[in-house]
Amino acid sequence: MFTQSKHGAREAVGMCSWKQRRDFPLGRRGLTLGAACSLSLVKDILTNAIAEFPEEKTRVFCAVLQQLRTLGGEQIRNVASFGGNIISRKSTSDLNPVLAASNCMLNLASRGQKRQIPMSDIFADGVGNNTITPEEVLVSIHIPYSRKGEYVAAFRQAPRRENALPITNAGMRVLFEEGTDIIKDLSIFYGGAVLTTVCAKQTCQTLTGRHWNEQMLDEACRLVLKEIALPGSTDGENVDYKKTLMVSFFYRFFLEVSQSLKTMDPCHFPGIPMEYGSVLKDFKTRMPQSIQIYQDVGPSQSPQDPVGRPVMHQSGIKHATGEAVYIDDLPPVDGELFLAAVTSSRAHAKIVSIDTSEALKGAGVFDVITVHDVPAANEFYFSDDPEIIFARNEVICVGQIVCAVVADSDVHAKQAAAKVKIEYEMLEPVILTIEEAIKHNSFFEPKRKLEQGNVEEAFETVDNIIEGEICIGGQKHFYMETQSMLAVPKGEDEEMDLYVSTQHPAIIQEMVAASLGVPANRIMCHVKRVGGAFGGKILRTGLLASVAAVAANKTSRAVRLILSREDDMVITGGRHPFIAKYKVGFMNDGRITAVDAKYYVNGGCTPDESVLVAEVSLLKIDNAYKIPNLRCWAYVCKTNLPSNTAFRGFGFPQSGLVTETWITDVADKTGLSPEKIREINMYKKNEQTHFKQKLDPQNLIRCWNECMEKSAYCSRRTAINEFNKQNYWKKRGIAIVPMKFPFGVSTPYLSQAAALVHIYTDGSVLLTHGGIEMGQGIHTKMIQVASRELNIPMSSIHFCETSTTTVPNACASIGSAGTDVNGMAVKDACQTLLKRLQPIIKKNPTGTWNDWIKEAFKQSVSLSATGYFRGYNEYMDWEKGEGHPFTYFIFGAACSEVEINCLTGDHKNLRTDIIMDIGCSINPAVDIGQIEGAFVQGIGLYTMEELKYSSEGVLYTRGPDQYKIPAVCDIPEQFSVSLLSSSQNPYAIYASKGIGEAGFFLGCSVFFALRDAVTSVRNERGLKKTFALNSPLTAEQIRANCADAFTEMVREGIGGFSLKPPVQKNYVCHVKHVGGAFWGKVLNHHSLL
Ligand SMILES: Cc1cc2nc3c(=O)[nH]c(=O)nc-3n(C[C@H](O)[C@H](O)[C@H](O)COP(=O)(O)OP(=O)(O)OC[C@H]3O[C@@H](n4cnc5c(N)ncnc54)[C@H](O)[C@@H]3O)c2cc1C
Repeated sequence: MFTQSKHGAREAVGMCSWKQRRDFPLGRRGLTLGAACSLSLVKDILTNAIAEFPEEKTRVFCAVLQQLRTLGGEQIRNVASFGGNIISRKSTSDLNPVLAASNCMLNLASRGQKRQIPMSDIFADGVGNNTITPEEVLVSIHIPYSRKGEYVAAFRQAPRRENALPITNAGMRVLFEEGTDIIKDLSIFYGGAVLTTVCAKQTCQTLTGRHWNEQMLDEACRLVLKEIALPGSTDGENVDYKKTLMVSFFYRFFLEVSQSLKTMDPCHFPGIPMEYGSVLKDFKTRMPQSIQIYQDVGPSQSPQDPVGRPVMHQSGIKHATGEAVYIDDLPPVDGELFLAAVTSSRAHAKIVSIDTSEALKGAGVFDVITVHDVPAANEFYFSDDPEIIFARNEVICVGQIVCAVVADSDVHAKQAAAKVKIEYEMLEPVILTIEEAIKHNSFFEPKRKLEQGNVEEAFETVDNIIEGEICIGGQKHFYMETQSMLAVPKGEDEEMDLYVSTQHPAIIQEMVAASLGVPANRIMCHVKRVGGAFGGKILRTGLLASVAAVAANKTSRAVRLILSREDDMVITGGRHPFIAKYKVGFMNDGRITAVDAKYYVNGGCTPDESVLVAEVSLLKIDNAYKIPNLRCWAYVCKTNLPSNTAFRGFGFPQSGLVTETWITDVADKTGLSPEKIREINMYKKNEQTHFKQKLDPQNLIRCWNECMEKSAYCSRRTAINEFNKQNYWKKRGIAIVPMKFPFGVSTPYLSQAAALVHIYTDGSVLLTHGGIEMGQGIHTKMIQVASRELNIPMSSIHFCETSTTTVPNACASIGSAGTDVNGMAVKDACQTLLKRLQPIIKKNPTGTWNDWIKEAFKQSVSLSATGYFRGYNEYMDWEKGEGHPFTYFIFGAACSEVEINCLTGDHKNLRTDIIMDIGCSINPAVDIGQIEGAFVQGIGLYTMEELKYSSEGVLYTRGPDQYKIPAVCDIPEQFSVSLLSSSQNPYAIYASKGIGEAGFFLGCSVFFALRDAVTSVRNERGLKKTFALNSPLTAEQIRANCADAFTEMVREGIGGFSLKPPVQKNYVCHVKHVGGAFWGKVLNHHSLL
């Protein structure tokens, strides 16, 4: 226990051992805990103390424990110290507000001196300075027992319930005159709001002596808003939301205390209405329970044949133990250099000068690499505008690579990179948003349009027309392994080995060869595995690999480039943000007969694959619905943001969300339920899509019906309505969404694939193919295929790496197609080999595999074969607006249920049921893993992941602190995935279907369940029925749309407002608009009454 060396650690740790509790830490007035206690230890001690002492004494302990449950995560709490959290005085400390409000004391020591100060003293000046002298250390913290008539509470709201710093938090304490509700002493502290923890001192003083009633509540909220001045937003955070949280927290405290007063004296204190009770309970994270249902293989299948069985991912154990080797795990190459990129800090500017003199003087610095060091192509023209390795004269986004430093270590390279001085001259215009691009007519060509039926005529004959708009934010790939590469010049014949984390080695080879001006046959790309890619490791990786290769070429040394998370987020783009405008014509019975939609796609500064993404978004606009008259346009905006690129789902997650939004709007307008509108308009019989491709929707309907049934949708809908009647501040919502996910890449040659299989004389098999393992289990499945074809156990087959030296010109592993196409190639290679072995097997049918192989070698039969798959016959004629761009369709449906807290906007994903038609799964364990993973990533896009930029185009959200992807707490508490039984697919290997992407879109069932919950709030409050929600639907947006007196108080200012309405059941809100400046667009849709 005495191992730490922190200030006061020896004494502190000694003091807080729970075993020694009776000797020391529990004094007459409270508990004294050493400053060096880990937060986990503090949590344990408080938990034990609470169990041992009367409730009345432990209210402070309970409030501190409340914060400790969600502060950081388990790992953080295990290492972060109690003292460190306090003394840092960060505004984000979850402990300081509650410790300060509870009159905790700090025991300080300096040479020969000890003193005790109140906790609140350290925030006295409100800017982070304090009364502790530099010589003093914090020895321990005294947490007092609560007294009779004293109530304490702590609150926090963060972008994610766990492992996320708070947006706003609070600690509150009230002490009443004995036996009354007259305030004797009140403390309110807030965190997360300004530079440090702040006290609403004036408010507390003013309210002392007042009764604990609604008048006091009203005044308290007004005073708090007046006293705690929040500075304008500097990092994209919404100040109005923080203010709303401040008063909402106080209201929650008011309810808690009112309820406690009732418990104390039910005759005098009425407590709170029953339907308010549930808001006093916070959402808790429980270990998710998951159910996975799939069809077992038939009884006639050989036990050795692994196809169709839930075989574990071949690297699963290695992933978990950390033994799996990624690029940065590769051992150093002799003389290796590290590369750090120097990136543009301007969104659009002319480069006036680059001064590298200071950088070159840096310790360990070897060289600075610029555009002048590129031997051949610096620009790549895949379309009219180029993709660029190094900025030449001009920068077109923040994060564009201008030059790079190579040094003997990562640290030295980064230190020197920071010393490169670049002088800029700003250029106009700086275009960051879609709106700005439209204003400046800044687009990439071509613009795309699809049309079927007669849209104009249809609008003439419909009962109703609605028009709407939705904004969908971007998303970062946030792969576990950031962009990584190691370029190793081989010292002769201009050969270079490239170890790259990419999903497309052939394009890396092509780009690097072109940039160095050497033939492709000198560049060997190797990929063992990739730590996640999701579409982000194609062209972007090609440019970064070229940077490393140019540096390696110039220095003749191996060069390693591993982007930090921050650099990765700043340099690379992500999923395309969309703005969609739509006009929908429908009949009163819910039939939608006309849709006219326009998609604006933020492509960023270079084309990448943005036009393809836009095309796919149009091809998939119908999702599961037959719309007889449909017209849609897609425009790719050229902006000064990093170039956006491919991302799982490739335009469908955005397009599908738009479609489901107008479906929901039609439901709102007709008064029918969204599921009814979905059913009415769903494809029902053999039909043609809007681009005239044939479609059999039988399995779509089966998925929908099974999902309805398995989720018990109807009875749960009733239960939710009942829950919502009985709960005012908590509401539940449910939504069921169907999906048709077309499979294909629209271009035949992009789905060709090859494999290479060697059999060695000991009978072992080495398999390779053009597909990339990025965690999705392709190699496991390919070994299953080879095992079936060669009729040997999987253990006899090994996969080493994907390489341009073994399988040339392989297409990218994209679009859920990896298993489909490479599986065919592996099968082909194995069948070739087996054919060669047939005569030998025939001669010795009882022989073993090893006997046959040995014999084959003796007979000079080649034991190596390539396999090939030509690709699918897919095409699209954009002139005619018709074609056959997809080979088959994956169908699915998901039903999700959520619960929201209307006071904070927080929500919990309660349950999700997914039914997915993936044909005959080759590996149900791997495939269901893909569905679950994609679904949760979809939850991220639709409800959490928010990118914030400054008005100069600088990304604020550049790491896990600011950018939140889903965590365990976001997985639905009950999560069931069932694979549709008896589904066949004649177009893919062993009747399977590609499944990497489809599950992603189903994450939007959570978005619509949240919308359903918000609708219930608005209906109860008499707020306007039609309202628009954007993606991601964050806590902030949920809170703003659950308009109440608090949001109104913040919006309108603080004078002359009465808080009575929210505590009345039939409250009719007089609010005119919801939300603050951040929701400027939403405001127009939100006129309430
Ligand atoms: C990923 C992550 C997530 C987090 N999430 C949250 C969160 O949600 N909520 C939250 O409240 N906090 C959060 N934290 C902060 C965390 O709880 C700790 O407060 C933080 O890490 C500092 O504690 P430490 O033990 O590391 O302190 P240190 O880094 O060791 O110390 C911090 C400062 O205090 C000084 N110091 C430490 N002990 C003493 C002492 N006894 N006397 C005088 N000076 C001292 C140190 O010299 C240093 O200047 C998070 C931290 C991380 C890394």
